[in-house]
Amino acid sequence: MIRKYLQNLHTHSTYCDGADRPEEMIERALELGFDTIGFSGHSYMYFSPLIGMTPEATEAYKRELRELKAKYADRIRVLCGLEFEMLSQVPLTGYDYLIGSCHYLKIGDEIVGIDRKADEVKRVIDTYYGGDGLRCAQAYYEMFSHLHEYGDFDIVGHFDLITKNCEKADLFDVDSPGYRKAALDCLHELSKHFRLFEVNTGAIARGYRTTPYPAPFLLKEMKRIGCSVLISSDCHDRRKLDIGFDQAMQLIADCGFDEVIVYSDRGFEGVKIDL
Ligand SMILES: [Zn+2]
Ligand SMILES: [Zn+2]
Repeated sequence: MIRKYLQNLHTHSTYCDGADRPEEMIERALELGFDTIGFSGHSYMYFSPLIGMTPEATEAYKRELRELKAKYADRIRVLCGLEFEMLSQVPLTGYDYLIGSCHYLKIGDEIVGIDRKADEVKRVIDTYYGGDGLRCAQAYYEMFSHLHEYGDFDIVGHFDLITKNCEKADLFDVDSPGYRKAALDCLHELSKHFRLFEVNTGAIARGYRTTPYPAPFLLKEMKRIGCSVLISSDCHDRRKLDIGFDQAMQLIADCGFDEVIVYSDRGFEGVKIDL
């Protein structure tokens, strides 16, 4: 039985775009009483080299996490994962687990970021989609539905990331049938290959949203088709390591899940929610 979620597998550090060194993050996890902290540095992106871990940094990251795993072994489980960007061309070996994410669209020969502030996404919509935000959202889901072609991922990252700005900016209508169909089609395609999705509170930490991803209609569909969920904070700042976790647990329960996935000695497993 689980009431409070005491782990985070989606954690960034100074090896990519996080604010804290891995050990500072581990210390914070210990303060919160976590049993597990998993790091998920951004994979190297040749088209956006400042955000991902360079090949050299990736090796150093793995090395440091091996050392920290041993150092903290009797206090907390430390895991070395990777947040893989779909267009990254990096090896996927040597990790405890993999998160598969899509932060960029490939439009013709260009690679364009969509995990951005509202005005930047608006510029993408105007430049490439004639001002039609729904077409941009459809392009995102079309692209994400090919995730399985890039590797075998344990966790699907922030499924509806494209809605990051939609609480505050009028980019497209998240309640429209066209939007919902695009999202559901992608979910159904991904669910043929992947069974574990994250409920991600990272946009709350950064002031974009007041609710976790994914939207309730998607969570309910995940439950209906037999997929599982875990909670993550997509943490870039140790002060926000568990932000929104209680809210996320309530959301999961409200959407019909009676179990949430945690990482245990046996790997990923479901635990009954007790709220
Ligand atoms: Zn991400
Ligand atoms: Zn992330």
